[in-house]
Amino acid sequence: MSECDSDPDGPEGPVERLLATARGEPLADPFRVTGVMMQYYHVCERELWFEANDVEIDRDNPAIARGTLIDESAYSDRKGSLHLGMIAPDLLQDGRVVEVKPSSSVVEPARMQLSYYLWYLERVAGVERDGVLAHPRERRREPVELTPEVREEVESAIRGIHGVVTRDTPPDAIEKPVCDSCAYHDFCWC
Ligand code: SF4
Repeated sequence: MSECDSDPDGPEGPVERLLATARGEPLADPFRVTGVMMQYYHVCERELWFEANDVEIDRDNPAIARGTLIDESAYSDRKGSLHLGMIAPDLLQDGRVVEVKPSSSVVEPARMQLSYYLWYLERVAGVERDGVLAHPRERRREPVELTPEVREEVESAIRGIHGVVTRDTPPDAIEKPVCDSCAYHDFCWC
């Protein structure tokens, strides 16, 4: 499969539509994926649907704790110092893309967010970079590389995200440890 034909669904598939959207091509149905969306997809598909469909929550409410677990990382899309189209990595350091995470308790979502940034940089900007997940509180740094397997993981996730966000209704709630501190807790369990 060529680099320009990475979506098994063809040019109308989610991956190619995302790339066309990122290039600024006029599309009837543009498709965007942010780092927050990539994280949520790997935490809870229902949460991703709420986020993508602008279901409002009171983010200033101190009772909304996943403010803490995810927000410090997930909202890096909004506070990141680097902005490139749909992505906003925390920083570049020694030529590597660094994402700073407060905790390693949500490693897989954070790793996929960073992998998506590396994929986006390569496919949209033509820039190849390695990444580092930094957990300053734990004094840990974890290297992340865009291997062929990781590339396929990212593209598979993009297709999965498209499937979730284009649903008419949210996926069913499935109880998980993060629910207690999720901003949407009351939507699911009260
Ligand atoms: S409360 Fe649980 S099921 Fe509901 S959106 Fe949050 S993480 Fe998902």
